[in-house]
Amino acid sequence: MYTLDLTGKTGLIFGVANKRSLAAGIADHLDRAGARLAFAYQGERFRDAVSSLADNMADPLLVECDVTRDEDLERAFDTVKREFGHLDYLVHSVAFAPREELEGEYRETSRDGFRIALEVSAYSLIPMARLAAPLMEGRKGSIVALSYLGAERAIPSYNVMGTAKAALEHAVKQLSLGLGKLDIRVNAISAGPVNTLSARGVSGFTNILKVYEERAPLGRNITQDEVGSAALFLLSGMASGITGTVLHVDAGFHITAI
Ligand code: NAD
Repeated sequence: MYTLDLTGKTGLIFGVANKRSLAAGIADHLDRAGARLAFAYQGERFRDAVSSLADNMADPLLVECDVTRDEDLERAFDTVKREFGHLDYLVHSVAFAPREELEGEYRETSRDGFRIALEVSAYSLIPMARLAAPLMEGRKGSIVALSYLGAERAIPSYNVMGTAKAALEHAVKQLSLGLGKLDIRVNAISAGPVNTLSARGVSGFTNILKVYEERAPLGRNITQDEVGSAALFLLSGMASGITGTVLHVDAGFHITAI
């Protein structure tokens, strides 16, 4: 039998808010494959949910980290360095835009809304990659970020988050160029819609789910588990020849036109 054994590997996961989070699905797959995990959660209000998720895992590490704060990011990676000594996998599953930016007309996007969305959802990958690199050197490290089709297409209400995802996908490519020299890979998963806390903040989200079900080649929506297994593939040595790519895990919806 062919099984993936990640015993001795370590991962740092940003973006678990609760058990429905895409990051929780990724953590589940990494944990089942034997990796030891650290969770960087946004703030106190997420701590209980994250610790109950991590409860069944082998020796997990929890660290609070608001990705807009450099000192928080540095502390998160310092903690991983101290406790794990190295890092093999990094998951960026973090996004935010003020609620009023995710409805109505894109031309109404505020300067602050733009700044916040881009800073939290795209810029944050850059300092994470910088801080991860020395911990990953010599270990064939791998980084995965979560994107959405709104990076490539105009989607009603997704608005400035589409701009942020376009920036994120470019950051994945640009980072992969430099980090490739250190044998570190950087990829993104462009996931189809999944009912999570963030997704419910997008106006008309239920309708988006319906459209995917009607038009995706597979005739359904994807699951959190499918994002988790795709991330496991990209993170692991199974994807050793893949970097700078955006893998669509969306039941094929992205190839449809009319
Ligand atoms: P989620 O709400 O469970 O996760 C979003 C995470 O971002 C939360 O854990 C939140 O705490 C974190 N976050 C926001 N601002 C932060 C900050 N300043 N500092 C630290 N953390 C912060 O929702 P999700 O759907 O699992 O989203 C995860 C990723 O997947 C996001 O990048 C999202 O855009 C992307 N994505 C989601 C879908 C979907 O339909 N659910 C589809 C494609 C891509």
